[in-house]
Amino acid sequence: MMMETKQFKAESKRILDMMIHSIYTHHEIFLRELISNASDAIDKIYYKALTDETLTFDKDSYYIKVAANKEDRTLKISDTGIGMTKEELENNLGTIAKSGSLAFKTDNELQDGFDIIGQFGVGFYSAFMVADVVTVISKALGSNEAYKWESKGADGYTITPWEKDSVGTEVILTIKENTEDENYDEYLEEYRLKEIIKKYSDFIRYPIKMDVTSRRLKEGSEDEYEDVQEEQTINSMVPIWRKNKKELTQEDYDNFYTEKRYGFDKPLKSIHISVDGAVRYNAILYIPEKIPFDYYTPEYEKGLELYSSGVLIMNKCADLLPDYFSFVKGMVDSEDLSLNISREMLQHDRQLKLIAKNINKKIKSELQSLLKNEREKYEKFYNSFGRQLKFGVYSDFGAHKEELQDLLMFYSSKEKKLITLEEYVARMPEDQKYIYYAVGETNERIEKLPQTELVADKGFEILYFTDDIDEFAIKMIMTYKDKEFKSVSSGDLGIEADENGKETAAEEAENKDLFNAMKDILAGKVKDVRVSKRLKTHPVCLTTDGDVSIEMEKVLNAMPNNQNIKADKVLEININHEVFESLKAAFTTDKEKLALYTNLLYNQALLIEGLPIEDPVEFTNNICKVMI
Ligand code: ADP
Repeated sequence: MMMETKQFKAESKRILDMMIHSIYTHHEIFLRELISNASDAIDKIYYKALTDETLTFDKDSYYIKVAANKEDRTLKISDTGIGMTKEELENNLGTIAKSGSLAFKTDNELQDGFDIIGQFGVGFYSAFMVADVVTVISKALGSNEAYKWESKGADGYTITPWEKDSVGTEVILTIKENTEDENYDEYLEEYRLKEIIKKYSDFIRYPIKMDVTSRRLKEGSEDEYEDVQEEQTINSMVPIWRKNKKELTQEDYDNFYTEKRYGFDKPLKSIHISVDGAVRYNAILYIPEKIPFDYYTPEYEKGLELYSSGVLIMNKCADLLPDYFSFVKGMVDSEDLSLNISREMLQHDRQLKLIAKNINKKIKSELQSLLKNEREKYEKFYNSFGRQLKFGVYSDFGAHKEELQDLLMFYSSKEKKLITLEEYVARMPEDQKYIYYAVGETNERIEKLPQTELVADKGFEILYFTDDIDEFAIKMIMTYKDKEFKSVSSGDLGIEADENGKETAAEEAENKDLFNAMKDILAGKVKDVRVSKRLKTHPVCLTTDGDVSIEMEKVLNAMPNNQNIKADKVLEININHEVFESLKAAFTTDKEKLALYTNLLYNQALLIEGLPIEDPVEFTNNICKVMI
């Protein structure tokens, strides 16, 4: 028969060119691709045997073999799968990208980095990243003829009748010579091949065999060694996620976490999911205990490992996790996902969306049960990742607040530990209208805030907000179980039964001129000076009118795109404090003294709030003035 060279189809040629000239560094994935093809071919025989009585599927006779030959620089991947006919060789290996993954890509995109190879491979053609010549010898099931397909790349391919005893396929790669930048020799090294198989194809369900050399004592000798070649199965075949949960111990899960390098800590919780419904998948997820060093940095990449029928197709599939659960580590394996799906298509994949939704629910319910049943563990988790949950409440304009609010915890003034909103509301006395909170740098500092006095005196519980996101997240939630949140520093505390309410109004009217004078002194600094209803023992405090609190002002102004947002500050005076008498006296006798006192009190209020005072030198001089 005349041997004729045939041309590749146009799009295949384009991909082939890119493979050959690939600047992509993960050349090693070619082996994953070829092994997956081999495994698929065995699957096909397997499924045929299920329905075809003339075929029996004898597990032992189905395997994949990887063999390197350094002398002639070849690497052979053979399988006992279904094989290919002449037509199939032509159609399957002459055409590529059935998945259409390249259809959406422009030439430029394809040239720039070409991420499809990195993320999903394009199967068979990746062989050209490491080989000058690719030879495929195949005999199809039910056929008496075998054929050899061969290609040196871009020029096209040849097909020739060939001899082969058994059904199956051999893919023989003539490995490229080393170049200055690239070492191809490694693909002929036993240890390296083993490593790559372990890394990408450990859970392929058929044995991947290799002849491995080991050094042994010569028979009958005590000090003479010899190299023996021995066939070994390199892959472990049964992945932990396909095992029955009952067979597995916590240690197995912990080991897998370490083996996979999901983290250096011991996970707080492992979640094993097996779903066999509208979408089929297995997943092993972990909630870590400790914050990864780069977690709260832009470099941190969320995502789960994604497998398709035991073959790793993506290291970090971000679409599987919402941002607020970005701390979750682990993997998902589904037989409903195609191996050669592109990243863009994956995003729109219905199956993947279902899996993501499912996983999201599961993580949430696991966290809820951790909170309910293993409080201490949950607190550990919350100390590490609570901030992320609060970001989740705040982000996307509060779209996830309902989902997340019951996972939040805040430090309680009464319990002196973290409590949930549900616990807070459950023990609210009847006459308490609001959920009270106080904002500050630390619990210790909040404890001493004068503004908390009245609320605490009433016996109401106060939540302490020490994270800069806290108040923003709460503003997004707005109400919890119909209870509004109220800062202890806000204008109206809603404590109507305040005994001295009337008295306050009277005092306010009586001292109207004094307050106006003080307001003038502090013009531009505060919006108002008022009689305080909330202070019991402290002389002054700052509160705010309107939506922006002092703490929010601090956070917003610390941002790079600082818009100079100001809270409407109000200086509140405790008229039952002795200092008030001095103010009144100064107002009638000595206006200069009134200005001095007013400024001192204002600066004190700033200090209590943790705000900088505008002129510390003047402030200290003023203190000296009252001392002499
Ligand atoms: P994909 O695996 O995504 O279909 P490939 O380019 O890797 O893309 O392979 C193209 C086709 O060639 C496969 O779908 C399969 O039909 C056939 N093929 C590849 N390798 C083998 C093999 N070892 N045995 C049988 N058929 C194979």
